[in-house]
Order: sequence, then structure tokens, then C-alpha cells
Amino acid sequence: MAAARKMIVGNWKMFGTAPMLAEITAIAAAPAGNAKLAICPPFTLIERAARAAQGSALAIGAQDVHAADKGAHTGCISTAMLIDSGATLVIVGHSERRADNFETDAQVKAKATAAVTAGLEAIVCIGETEAQRDNGQTLTVIETQLAGSLPDAADRLVVAYEPVWAIGTGRTPTEPQVAEVHAAIRAHLEKRFGAPGAATPILYGGSVKPENAANLLGLPNVDGALVGGASLTAASFLAIAAAV
Ligand code: PGA
Repeated sequence: MAAARKMIVGNWKMFGTAPMLAEITAIAAAPAGNAKLAICPPFTLIERAARAAQGSALAIGAQDVHAADKGAHTGCISTAMLIDSGATLVIVGHSERRADNFETDAQVKAKATAAVTAGLEAIVCIGETEAQRDNGQTLTVIETQLAGSLPDAADRLVVAYEPVWAIGTGRTPTEPQVAEVHAAIRAHLEKRFGAPGAATPILYGGSVKPENAANLLGLPNVDGALVGGASLTAASFLAIAAAV
């Protein structure tokens, strides 16, 4: 069975104006390593970031997309607009959007389906809250989110496991906890999609730093990382990429 590709993806969230393009240029200039690298800046930087990364292996993505291809949706961005701006991937269902914008599994699935149908890679985020983990519900929550949020095929699909309580907190699950959830995700993907599910990258996200990257990325079924805060400088992002 084909092994999943390795990927390190930066999620800049609502950080970044023109001066931050220097970080993109520096990442694009770094020698290729073992992983595909991508940065997802705010919408406003995508086109300039894509231009800065042109000719390099660095991919540029977005942090959200609308499920409709066009229409009366004030303030929203379609897959065609992302592709037109130079994006090749998009994060959907990040826990901050699920919390702040009340996105449901069904909406996340619709966005992911629109993205992969348009030819973008879709990074579908799932993860339990601290209360859910404390109540022993982690694997049930993960299973429900996978069942409801993933598109109906594995083409151009990436899954990111991001425990909500680990995002931006400096806390991470233990290595056995990460391995347990990633094994459950892999089992779901293989059962649902067969061989393509075995080759679907599963990223870990939540307080990934240069200091913990090698341990996290060395775990079984951890095919890469989705990195927030530590992706905001080329130095720390590349240090994490070097741990693959
Ligand atoms: P963090 O964010 O690395 O800052 O914890 C990860 C994410 O939200 O994708």
C-alpha cells in the first residue's frame, strides 16, 4: 500500500500584511526536504504569496472557502477565486471556524467537497475539546466528525487532527494519545476509502514547535503537521519541516 505523503502546513490565521511576505520568500528559497510545504496566509495575501513562491515547491493555500461556486454571499470566497489567486489547497473546518462561525460537520463536508471537486487539496480539521477528552469521548467525537465532515472520496483529501485544547496553548496530548487518535483516523479512512484511505495524509496540529516536532512527527500515522503560531516565521517553520 502506498504510504501517505509528508506535509507541513502553516496556518497563519488572522496574522500577516505585506511585510510578512518576506517569510514566504525565505521558506520558498529553502532547499527541498522530505515534506511538501504549504503556507495558508489570510485571503488578502494569497495572490502575493503565490507570486513570491512561484517556481519553488512551496504551495499556498487558504484558511476557508464557501461551498457555493458563486452567488449572493457577501464577504465569502469561492474555490474559483482561490484558484484564480494561486492557491492550491484550503483548510476547512478549523475548530476556530467551527466555534466562531458555528460551522457544522455538514457545512464542512460541503466545503471540502467543493474544494476537492474544484481541484484544490482540502485539509479537513477535526478534534475534541478538553471537556470531551476528560469525559472519555475523544474517539467518539473524532468518529462523528470524520463521518460527517469528510467528502465521499479520498481524492485530494488531507485530515488534520487538532485537539481544541492544544491549539495555541503550548499543551499537547501525550505521544500515546496522539498515536491512538491517528490510528483511529487511519482505520476510518481505510474502512471508508480502501487503499486511497491508507495513503491519505493525517496531520497533527496543536502547539507544534521546533522543540516537539521530531517526537510528534515520528509517531505512527502522523504524516505531518498543521502549524499555527510557529509558522509565522520562516526560521521556526523550516525547523519543524527539518524534523520530518
Ligand atoms: P498552534 O495552532 O500551532 O498555534 O497551536 C494550530 C492550528 O490552529 O492550526
